[in-house]
Amino acid sequence: MGDSLEAIGAEVRACQLCKLGQTRTVGVPGEGNPNAEIMFIGEGPGFHEDQQGRPFVGAGGQLLAEMLQLIGLRRDEVFITNVVRCRPPGNRDPLPDELAACDPYTQRQIALLQPKLIVTLGRFSMARFIGSGPMRDLHGRAREWNGITCLAMYHPAAILRTPTVEMRRIYEEDFRKIPVLLAEARKKREPVAAAAEAPTPLDQLRLF
Ligand code: URA
Repeated sequence: MGDSLEAIGAEVRACQLCKLGQTRTVGVPGEGNPNAEIMFIGEGPGFHEDQQGRPFVGAGGQLLAEMLQLIGLRRDEVFITNVVRCRPPGNRDPLPDELAACDPYTQRQIALLQPKLIVTLGRFSMARFIGSGPMRDLHGRAREWNGITCLAMYHPAAILRTPTVEMRRIYEEDFRKIPVLLAEARKKREPVAAAAEAPTPLDQLRLF
């Protein structure tokens, strides 16, 4: 049988591939529209996510929903997940072995969704899809990863920690790049269909 988002969900909830499995309350596989064109990939569950089994349900999630609204999107139109799916104790940074253990779930979700755009939220997700470097230099930048456009963004918690007008302006500006990049990514995939419909040399000969 083929892979499915539901199968990944069940595996994550029972997962013991790294030590976070021993301390989490519940695993947080990710959620959203199975036909989503955009995938948001954050860092890892915090307190509330660990209790509820859903990504970005705390204050960061509230800000994410606001930013989505700004560009005319709702949570249920996109897919939201994290580079680690169990809460690191005390919200510490995820460790390399934990990131590595959880990466196959991310890859399987990407393979199933085939998103046109991946938006990385925070430095761990950015390091996986865009590259490492200071967030202040890389946020708002896009890069191709395996044929998928990836856009680096600050983590919502970073914006909440520095609630200045300037940070809010930067975040809004970065979010407004999403519809632009999505339109470009859609166009990039169109030529394949257009080429299939283009007249063949034989069709062209029939014109004479
Ligand atoms: N922070 C994250 O990176 N992910 C969540 O799901 C919640 C908070």
